Amino acid sequence: MHNILEAHTISKKFGDFTALNQVSIEVPKGSIFGLLGPNGAGKTTLIRIINQITMPDSGHVILDGEPLKNHHVKDIGYLPEERGLYKSMKVGEQALYLAQLKGLSKAEAKERLHYWFERLEIGDWWNKKIQELSKGMAQKIQFVVTVLHEPKLLIFDEPFSGFDPINANLIKDEILRLRDNGSTIIFSTHRMESVEELCDHIALINKSNKILDGKLTEVKRQFKNNAYEVGVKTDNIAALHKELTEKFEVSPAQFKTIDDQLKLNVKLGATEKPNDFLQYLTTRGEVSHFVELLPSTNDIFIKAIQNNS
Ligand code: ADP
Ligand code: MG
Repeated sequence: MHNILEAHTISKKFGDFTALNQVSIEVPKGSIFGLLGPNGAGKTTLIRIINQITMPDSGHVILDGEPLKNHHVKDIGYLPEERGLYKSMKVGEQALYLAQLKGLSKAEAKERLHYWFERLEIGDWWNKKIQELSKGMAQKIQFVVTVLHEPKLLIFDEPFSGFDPINANLIKDEILRLRDNGSTIIFSTHRMESVEELCDHIALINKSNKILDGKLTEVKRQFKNNAYEVGVKTDNIAALHKELTEKFEVSPAQFKTIDDQLKLNVKLGATEKPNDFLQYLTTRGEVSHFVELLPSTNDIFIKAIQNNS
């Protein structure tokens, strides 16, 4: 797949402090790319470099096949982490002004803004002053202004911070829809909840270094550890529990059942085959549940950072 953005060996220091150390990312066209990492990892610094707000000390960025230049600013919709709107302006007035800065005519801006305001159910805010809005409300306006000119690349820096769960979901759905309509999206986050449903590609930055990246399914494959969630109906739950505990690494499993049974997470050895294990379980009782446990993005995040420090 063609990459809409490539950052090659980007390094950036602030004084003696290295904010980015030889970080490279490749963002396939049409993907939702999660730039993950703890606070202070360097995510915003990389995003600011891609948006030509900060210059890297070394390394270079390729946008849609061309070395990054000033004129590319119009190809990127950028929602900064530090959000600011002019407090005393009215919502509609401000949105129109910002939309025209992105190169839309007034009429076009008005039409698109009305469409988006209806979509996000904020139509009645048009004549309100920005200072009357809550943080989450102001953030919705900024989201609209970021996507309005339909740039080919959208970059959202911590888009969910400041939103309640309902609005966070709404923005999630809009991000998916923007992708389905042909945009490529990069977003940064230090919270993993949003990642699972959204990203198809991720890069994990920790302490200025990229420590992991790739297709989310590949990363999951890399981190899965031959673990299964099992449920077995047997007359002697305690005996089977003891037997399994002696043979495998087990922990309690939480899933709903209507009758009593042994519920366990079981980690098999690296060479043990799930089919053999399943067959063995059937000799001990009635297997009601057998599911491979895949690591969550949160598990991966924690494990990768532990391995790295
Ligand atoms: P993240 O977005 O992953 O939380 P940042 O990229 O904002 O992290 O910051 C990475 C590190 O670089 C932090 O330690 C931060 O304090 C430092 N940093 C960022 N910008 C500057 C700057 N302009 N001057 C000095 N230090 C900075
Ligand atoms: Mg940041």
